[in-house]
Amino acid sequence: MKLTQVSQAYLAHYPAGSTRALEDAYEFAKQAHAGQRRASGEAYIQHPLHTALTLAQLGLDQDTLIAALLHDTVEDNPTVTLATIEKRFGANVVQLVDAVTKLSNRFERVHFSVKEIQIESLRKLFLAMAQDIRVVLIKLADRLHNMRTINALSARKRKRIAQETLDIYAPLADRLGIFDIKWQLEDLSFAVLKPQEYAWIKKEVQERRSTREKYAEQIARDLTARITKAGIPCEAQFRVKHFYSIYKKAVMKYDRDVSRVYDLIAVRVVVDTTEQCYAALGIIHQLWKPLVHRIKDYIAIPKLNNYQALHTTVFAGENRLTEIQIQTRAMYQESEFGIAAHWNYKEQPNSGAKAKTSQLRWINQIAQWHQKLSDSQAFFEAIRTDVFKDKIFVFTHDGSVIDLPIGASAIDLAYEVNTTNPHQLKQVKINDQFARINRPLANGDMVELLYNSAQDRPDISWLRFVVTKKARAAISDWYDRLAEKETIELGEKLMTYTLENYHKPGLASLPAELWTELLTHFHLTSREQLYKEIAHNTIRPADVVRLLHPADTARQAKKDTYTLAIKAKNRSGILREILGILSRMQLTIYSLQTHDRVAKKPEFFVQITLVTRDKGKIAACVHAISRSTDIISVSQEQESQPQVGLLTR
Ligand code: MN
Repeated sequence: MKLTQVSQAYLAHYPAGSTRALEDAYEFAKQAHAGQRRASGEAYIQHPLHTALTLAQLGLDQDTLIAALLHDTVEDNPTVTLATIEKRFGANVVQLVDAVTKLSNRFERVHFSVKEIQIESLRKLFLAMAQDIRVVLIKLADRLHNMRTINALSARKRKRIAQETLDIYAPLADRLGIFDIKWQLEDLSFAVLKPQEYAWIKKEVQERRSTREKYAEQIARDLTARITKAGIPCEAQFRVKHFYSIYKKAVMKYDRDVSRVYDLIAVRVVVDTTEQCYAALGIIHQLWKPLVHRIKDYIAIPKLNNYQALHTTVFAGENRLTEIQIQTRAMYQESEFGIAAHWNYKEQPNSGAKAKTSQLRWINQIAQWHQKLSDSQAFFEAIRTDVFKDKIFVFTHDGSVIDLPIGASAIDLAYEVNTTNPHQLKQVKINDQFARINRPLANGDMVELLYNSAQDRPDISWLRFVVTKKARAAISDWYDRLAEKETIELGEKLMTYTLENYHKPGLASLPAELWTELLTHFHLTSREQLYKEIAHNTIRPADVVRLLHPADTARQAKKDTYTLAIKAKNRSGILREILGILSRMQLTIYSLQTHDRVAKKPEFFVQITLVTRDKGKIAACVHAISRSTDIISVSQEQESQPQVGLLTR
């Protein structure tokens, strides 16, 4: 084929357009592929030409057609660089070419490295990687020509490519509403994957076809005459349904009886307005009796992919069941070319803002189409990346696709996928290579999370890297809960140490009535609350002792009190260690107060007031604490007189 076919198809959609740039791109591609041949033996340039022609027929813009002509040049010719293309064809074109090349390489790599992957994940990934929907369209057109020329390849390659086409490319074309390409991809794959079934259905259809076609032609003529006579301008055509859909219907619904597939040949009536669609339906039903359950109003209730039409199956001439579809011209365009039917909006004069709105409009439209599909949300997310480039899609080791905000790392992923123990995340492999745990992930990364069950807490430094709310909240909560638990333990210990110092038993052995009395006295409702108050120094353990043992408090007055100010790293367990030192030295803790001990702060302060007769113990204690891990500083504040007798009964 020649470039003029592409140019003509382009001009049909853009009558004011110039084909100079297309000619330029063609020359460039021809040179880049000079001497190269396809497996079929034909000159390589035929492949980009056919790819561009498909897109030109869909009405795609000039940049897309140029990118289609150039789409294999970088890959196939080492002297062609993206810089050359950018210089000659501009930034928009080079972006498309680059995206197509990257998508091909990356998608293939992911595709084959992931074994047990769900097909749906691959489709999502494909869309996510494409970023620009035009890249998807170029890949569809590229695949269409590859499928048309697939016979030149080995049997193994043919099967693999056909299966991939049926699994990924045809459904994508369907989702984007480009049925014209979807049908071709399906039939071409079907012929490769099930050659015998294909031959059978083809024979069945062809045997019926000539009589059906003559008959359908007659119906179309009758319909045009009747509807036009009623004052409605109309065009009636018929078309043979494609093999794969007839095959699926015959096998799944009609026990392999092809004759029962009514819509082997469908007659389509195209009118101008929606009202005329309903009027035409009325005329048809007056003419021929409809089959009751086969009247479908896809105008009032469009199909999920936004297909709109009225369908009816009637007993037409010779009482043969015939499916008739009624559509406006706009519905017809849309049903054949899907989102591509909206493409021309982009290149109209004073584009700019207008182009953006139309682009947004059809993306919203796709979103609406798919809202009711079970996987619609994820699909919408995938499509949305085209406009809102704020998401990345990564694979987990089991083959599911997870979307994350840009900048997210394996830590975010762990909190996204692991509901039981994400904080045990220890190492990460990205695309089979060990990587930093906080390395930002990229689209299509294969991420393997490695856990260590011995690890009982998240690393507090993760808070500096996480970008998802979920991960941030989970880590903060974990530390908040830990802080609360530690606070209660601390209060209990302080209480026990103080009681020991008075040679009294711990509160654990306190009778329930006394507990109640104690809590009532402090206006508290639980033991945990009391311990928390003690830890926060709003209730002093010594006061509790005095309350419980008023007779024993007097002799304590002779002791001196000392206050230590300690600055330490904010990690869990550190207070317990400090208290351990005090306990071993048998120092009575009179009060303890922490400052800034919240999950986000790297350091905190603690003030501990001790009571002892032995000043030497304080110096030893300062020394011991300052030598323990994660202590930043310890200092002794001025001595003060002990405060006693504040609380008496
Ligand atoms: Mn190609």
